[in-house]
Amino acid sequence: MIVIENCAIATVDGEGSEHGSGHLVVEGERIVAVGQGPAPRELLSMAGARHIDAAGCLATPGLVNAHHHLYQWITRGLAQQANLFGWLTELYPVWARLDDDLELAAARAALATLLVSGCTTSTDHHYVFPAGAGDLLAPSIEAATSLGIRFHPTRGSMDLGQSRGGLPPDEIVEDRDTALAATEAAIDRWHDPGPGAMLRIAVAPCSPFSATGELMTEAAALARRRGVRLHTHLAETVEEERFCRQRFGCTPAEYLDGLAWLGDDVWLAHCVHLEARAVRRFGRTGTAVAHCPSSNARLGSGIAPVADLLEAGAPVGLGVDGAASNEAGQLGPELRQALLAARLRGGAAALTARQALELGTIGGARCLGREDELGSLEQGKLADVALWRVDGLGHADVADPVAALVLGPPAPVELLLVGGRVVVERGELRTGSEQEIARQARAASRRLLSLAGVTA
Ligand code: ZN
Repeated sequence: MIVIENCAIATVDGEGSEHGSGHLVVEGERIVAVGQGPAPRELLSMAGARHIDAAGCLATPGLVNAHHHLYQWITRGLAQQANLFGWLTELYPVWARLDDDLELAAARAALATLLVSGCTTSTDHHYVFPAGAGDLLAPSIEAATSLGIRFHPTRGSMDLGQSRGGLPPDEIVEDRDTALAATEAAIDRWHDPGPGAMLRIAVAPCSPFSATGELMTEAAALARRRGVRLHTHLAETVEEERFCRQRFGCTPAEYLDGLAWLGDDVWLAHCVHLEARAVRRFGRTGTAVAHCPSSNARLGSGIAPVADLLEAGAPVGLGVDGAASNEAGQLGPELRQALLAARLRGGAAALTARQALELGTIGGARCLGREDELGSLEQGKLADVALWRVDGLGHADVADPVAALVLGPPAPVELLLVGGRVVVERGELRTGSEQEIARQARAASRRLLSLAGVTA
């Protein structure tokens, strides 16, 4: 049992309940009490309880990262001035050289970075499966399991190579049947549908310009037959919109709608370029969006209509996106980035600090279909908790702790619990050596760039 007291608490529950000086009690993997004032005395007296005086801290739900490509960690800092299509074209041949060892090093670094920035659940959209490269999904699952993060990897896929009018080179696409069989095998092997699951698989063909309509349709049928979630990239850039209009005669959102892809079991990355009609359609169908503000800025893609999506009733979560288009790779700072991006698009009232926190917590949980267990601090929910230090130089004088967290500099993570287990303490990873992970990521990056013939 862990008893946390004396901290501000933003529960992000349905009423937006906050406590100025409250308590949070964790037993096993679940939250058993949360509220204002000291913890109930009967809980305090239980044997073996660890007491934490969290004065100077703010407790929030652990952050949920709704979009990432872990393998990209070891290809950061490349194609620095390119837009999406130029960036992809430069990076595809590098990614073609991936193998299981490289994937493991990249995934460990990416996931460790998420953990120390307050993230307790992450997805991974892995879609590059060059022939003979290895499993590539197993190493990322191994990394997540050993570091203790809750993990929702997707089995991605691409079957539309350059020779058939797609963007990726033919050497890194699969044929449709191979991709679908491997996706179903991943569900069989890894997916845990049970309560408190640490590992769930989703189905994720990559994008309209790298997956055929046939693959998209059959992937959706597979996901629905197996009761798992469905994910892809959509409407990220004007170039993608042009591609869809030329090839399909409609917008990316209309294309997906026509493939019966919209629904409350689907979450889509980016959705920067959506018409008002598509925003309404997302709201009506419950289609969720993983908003990736830093990546969209890094690639100059634009600013997603987050305030409009929320108003329409569509769930919106936050994603760091692959580290090759967001070298920082931390989810904590994306709260601030999301708020700033929304205000650049829609004015000063477009998104509040509390709405930004909702995107990073309950919004992400809704993207992953886990809002019944994750994304808020409530009795009975899983004990995925971030305790942020807000009493240092960067935050101490801001009276509103949520404003300090979202508007201020990245706050140090005093404690991070995943299912009640301590994974970060006093800003440091407790489930691995950050120095060792960094050293291995550096070696992996050098080996990959050397294999691909890239000179720095
Ligand atoms: Zn992405």
